[in-house]
Amino acid sequence: MQVRSAGETRMPTPSDIFYGTPIYNTPPTHRYNVQPREFNNELTYLTQQQADNVEAFHQAYEEAVKSVRESLGGSHPLQINGEAVETGDTFTVTSPGNQNLEIGEFAEGSEREVEAAVSAAKAAAPDWETFDVDSRVEIFQNAADIMRDRKYELAATVSLENGKNRTEAMADVDEAIDFLDFYSSEFERANGYEFDTGEPTPGQHTTNLLRPYGVFAVISPFNFPMALFVGMSAGALITGNTVVAKPASTTPLVARKYVDILEEAGLPDGVLNLVMGGGSDVGQPLVEHEDVSGVAFTGSRGVGLHIQESFMELGKRGPVIAELGGKNPVIVSDTADIDEAVEGVKNGAFSFSGQKCSATSRVYVYESVIDEFTDKLVTEAEELTIGPATDRDTFVSPLINDGALEDYQEITEQARNDGTVHTGGNVVTDGDLDAGRFVEPTVVTDIPHEHELAREEHFLPFVTIHPVSGLEEGIEKSNDSEYGLCAGLFSTDETEIDHWFDEIESGMCYVNRNQSATTGALVQAQPFGGWKFSGTTGKFAGGYWYLQQFMREQSRTRVE
Ligand code: NDP
Repeated sequence: MQVRSAGETRMPTPSDIFYGTPIYNTPPTHRYNVQPREFNNELTYLTQQQADNVEAFHQAYEEAVKSVRESLGGSHPLQINGEAVETGDTFTVTSPGNQNLEIGEFAEGSEREVEAAVSAAKAAAPDWETFDVDSRVEIFQNAADIMRDRKYELAATVSLENGKNRTEAMADVDEAIDFLDFYSSEFERANGYEFDTGEPTPGQHTTNLLRPYGVFAVISPFNFPMALFVGMSAGALITGNTVVAKPASTTPLVARKYVDILEEAGLPDGVLNLVMGGGSDVGQPLVEHEDVSGVAFTGSRGVGLHIQESFMELGKRGPVIAELGGKNPVIVSDTADIDEAVEGVKNGAFSFSGQKCSATSRVYVYESVIDEFTDKLVTEAEELTIGPATDRDTFVSPLINDGALEDYQEITEQARNDGTVHTGGNVVTDGDLDAGRFVEPTVVTDIPHEHELAREEHFLPFVTIHPVSGLEEGIEKSNDSEYGLCAGLFSTDETEIDHWFDEIESGMCYVNRNQSATTGALVQAQPFGGWKFSGTTGKFAGGYWYLQQFMREQSRTRVE
């Protein structure tokens, strides 16, 4: 393994980075890297749209689907210390849109493989920490380039494995590339978070730096199988930690492909290890392993809080960086453009069948416009195309697993009993769709604000609409939730907008966004994270304060 020195580099001070003016008088002795690479979001579909070239997008995607389909059904090992590892046990993954389509057979890990993977990660950690900024960044930039070259294949894999339609699947891959680019740029901008703090008193030279914790567990959910697996692991790795990663059991193929990409990009053996398998068989022992110093987790609130509690009970001091669920509210004022609000809520609630932590799930509408809003939303919801992810016109894609299908049947039954279902509530089995798990987008009213249907996260294409007398009541009800992930407002009144921004308890806040009332954040511009039980740290993925969480501070004083 090649270990590169820090080279002729002067460390920037915090002041250089944040204000551009050095605050100390020590003469610079090294060059420093305060000119990070330029960051631009990877916006594949939008770029083709703006170039009037949407057909090229569709053609490339359809060709990729064809070739990925032909490659499906193989067997996929774990990756420990750079070696492919079979375990004797396997699990089979099928496509949510067509359960007759086998995605592949995956080696199923257990405590034994967790032990081996943590041990490999621990052994690789000291060398990996010595890689300087440029050499670490180079690896992640190589990976981003490989992903750019393979983006259609990766998007097709996401569609087939987790059921996202083509534009959403590409957005997932784009976001993963964005994480690699943005974290590279941030790590460079801060010169690896190493500052020369000068000579506080004569003869003493001080530096201040952030150092990795050691081994991180990275546990990801099914719904952004590429972006979140890549983003969390890149955060841990680029900051010098080594990783044992466990993807969701329903989406291991995308993770497996990314591990291969990083290997090709030059990541040394043992730095990223992949153990596939179930939450309790792999996830739990991984979190509880004595040599795991930190956890990056995205998933449900129950599992995330359980991980945090286990970590504390075991006396571990490292971070649990957990991004959790949401119950995302939207307020529609009587000054709103109702058509825009309907468009925004429809996109926020029903894209990827509501299987997004940011999905719009409850809408508080001023009484004077609630009937108009509800009627229009129902009409729009009924016009949405339900179908396989890979079909060009599909908007409402399949549900991930049988548990989600059962939950849908249960909550829609409850909605019929306790409220009014205006549209939806049925499983769709027309034609070929009976091979997948397809359901109708569902719009419900007359559910009390306190009802569990209006309080619990469901992760399904299901939205409740509630009347409110005005902004104060809308804000009060929006905030009366244990979650605080995303929120939306539709209003043309500037006073209402300013007041809402000040009062809403939510990590991400959107006003008048017809593209989606609550979903669709971009790395850097719209860092992603939640308040309250929607996250454990208050620092957001894809934002300026994310990477520091994977490190701990050390101040170094040398008397010269
Ligand atoms: P889960 O919490 O069910 O699973 C997430 C991951 O945790 C999976 O890899 C799962 O493994 C694993 N896991 C399950 N049990 C344990 C355990 N006891 N110990 C350790 N790991 C475990 O979430 P979903 O995959 O269903 O994803 C949906 C959830 O994720 C929603 O609540 C959503 O809001 C949230 N989410 C939050 C985001 C955010 O940024 N705030 C973004 C995206 C999703 P396995 O698959 O094998 O069960």
